[in-house]
Amino acid sequence: MSARELIVLGTSSQAPTRHRNHNGYFLRWDGEGLLFDPGEGTQRQMLLAGVPSSAISRICVSHFHGDHCLGLPGVVQRLSLDRVAHPVHAHFPASGSVFFDRLRSASVFHEVADVRAEPATGDGLVADLAVGTLEARRLDHVVEAFGYRLVEPDGRRMLPERLAAHGIAGPDVGRLQREGVLDVGGLFVRLEDVSAHRPGQRFAFVMDTRPCDAVWALAEGADLLVIEATFLEEDAALASEYGHLTARQAATVAADCGVRRLVLTHFSQRYDDPRRFGDEAASVYTGDLVVAEDLQVVPVPARAERQAGSTVGA
Ligand SMILES: [Zn+2]
Repeated sequence: MSARELIVLGTSSQAPTRHRNHNGYFLRWDGEGLLFDPGEGTQRQMLLAGVPSSAISRICVSHFHGDHCLGLPGVVQRLSLDRVAHPVHAHFPASGSVFFDRLRSASVFHEVADVRAEPATGDGLVADLAVGTLEARRLDHVVEAFGYRLVEPDGRRMLPERLAAHGIAGPDVGRLQREGVLDVGGLFVRLEDVSAHRPGQRFAFVMDTRPCDAVWALAEGADLLVIEATFLEEDAALASEYGHLTARQAATVAADCGVRRLVLTHFSQRYDDPRRFGDEAASVYTGDLVVAEDLQVVPVPARAERQAGSTVGA
């Protein structure tokens, strides 16, 4: 199967620290490369992580606080320096268009890359990709912010032994996949008879926000959820005041939504031991938990073998 993985480029909120860069996340998903929230220093973090600029096909910005966008000038200019030939689509809240325009034209450079601004104006579809749909939802921060999710549609996995048992091979397989039923010497074979349900995979990205319905909607059924956990529960009042989540709140979302792998990030530098985020989250979420470190690679978990609408074993 093609590689689907998250490469963590930075994990600090507000300002970088000695050990944590400003935010930044690169999602490799088959042929797509989605760069989320490139904070200051993202270009160099990509270099350290071995991600070339040509791997970027889309840039998604949640909002225009500096820790989520100050890396844009460097990344945009690098795309031109490297003469990246394919278009790079940029998604961000439309209300922040003035900031996007400034950042992409922050200084003099020879622009050859095809960067296409595609501002999001509300909840819903952002892009219909070959690998799934990219969707946005408005979060609840102190400025307008959007979370994103990538949803691969469910499909069916052909079962070779069932196909063989029915004597189906060659172009007939494709015909059965397209038409759902095949006449095999007067006997009708249905697609369900020779294939198993293959659940689509989901990735969700939730940055700066208070708890709100959109957070749960984005995280629902995610195989991999990247979510901010700026504060610990002891500072829940501060989290609410500044429009953020606590580790406990983020983990509660993951538990409620059946998230398979949870990545906590965007940490406040007021805490010196990152294990505290993990301990707090683990008290409510029993799944696979990652307290993100810079340059960490987090694979999207292997496809779930949930059975749905079929009794065919796998
Ligand atoms: Zn932030």
